[in-house]
Amino acid sequence: MNNGTGPGDSSTSNKPEHADNSSGSRPSPGSNPLSGRSNPAQTPTSSRLNPAHTPTRSQPGPGHNPLSHRPAPTDNSPRGWFDLGDVVVVPVVEASRLLIDPAEFFPGHPGVPSGWAAEEPWFDPGRGRLVFTMQAFLVVTPYERILVDACVGDGKHRVRPEFDRQDSGWWQRFSATGLSADDVSTVVLSHLHVDHVGWATRWADGRWQPAFAKARHVLTASEYDYWRSDAGAAAMTRTGDYLADSIEPVAEAGLLDLTPPDAEIGPHVRLCPAPGHTPGNTAVLVTGSRARMLLTGDVLHHPLQMTDPDISTRYCVDPELSALTRRRTLEWLADTGTAMMPAHFAAPSAGHVVRHGSGFAFAPAVDLHRPGRYVVADRPDGG
Ligand SMILES: [Zn+2]
Repeated sequence: MNNGTGPGDSSTSNKPEHADNSSGSRPSPGSNPLSGRSNPAQTPTSSRLNPAHTPTRSQPGPGHNPLSHRPAPTDNSPRGWFDLGDVVVVPVVEASRLLIDPAEFFPGHPGVPSGWAAEEPWFDPGRGRLVFTMQAFLVVTPYERILVDACVGDGKHRVRPEFDRQDSGWWQRFSATGLSADDVSTVVLSHLHVDHVGWATRWADGRWQPAFAKARHVLTASEYDYWRSDAGAAAMTRTGDYLADSIEPVAEAGLLDLTPPDAEIGPHVRLCPAPGHTPGNTAVLVTGSRARMLLTGDVLHHPLQMTDPDISTRYCVDPELSALTRRRTLEWLADTGTAMMPAHFAAPSAGHVVRHGSGFAFAPAVDLHRPGRYVVADRPDGG
């Protein structure tokens, strides 16, 4: 089915042809970032969603951050939801303001980010720290309640001090949407890093058990295979084996559904291959009757990667492929007007992508954002 992104190719087809010469591996404009193919077909909503047509924001100029006057978030309360028509996307925040040293996360770019990426809410100038949000996304369609990613989780032993046996209150915020765990039909895991799998299990009866016991848990086979390989096991030594408490109980319960990287999850949701950060990494395209949104997961972590898409993180398994996927994704988002919601951008997280110089700028998705707390029972169609 071609819904505007086309079927994804295998991850190997996204490998740069000239990995030692990044300027020689630039995709052409309009190419599908997530498949590596040209993308002649756009959905009818594309022109309506073009950032140039968004009513309240002009294209950011040099050094200007369109969010610069927004107060920094200081708590984990809900900050609204996103209206795609017959589908909504609800961020469920675990930590709204995690401060990270640029030297840790971007070892090749350890100082203060340049331009608007060095301002609040993206950067804390006083402390010299990047500001990250940890969050999952609830996708409510007429047919399904889908949780995309599962944050760090509470009460789990983790090497990183901020994550270790934390008590985040995420479960209470999830429950405040009006859903119970058994209402969730699908859990999508974009990739198997420690900050994307934690709420897949909760402690009960003396062991870690699937938190969403009636949900299929979708994950690409290539991602699962990588983390179970010797290379994946070696990569996990810095964090400890979080798969043992967060993924294997789901697999043992028969709830793991290993898929290709372009799998259709349902009529409104599909995976898009986005390899590089991890081998089986995916983005999640959500298509509603009025608009669509790409949940980009960890294709990018911080707005400084919009100003320079070549900057990959310390934690990218294949930094060059990660950079290529990032640039292709941003180009596709800019060309189609599709909104994006990265996993770790500070609130309001979602925005449109506009080309700016050799990189891109971010225009908040004010056309899709709705303030206040979303409660599933409040949906106009009774869903
Ligand atoms: Zn992450």
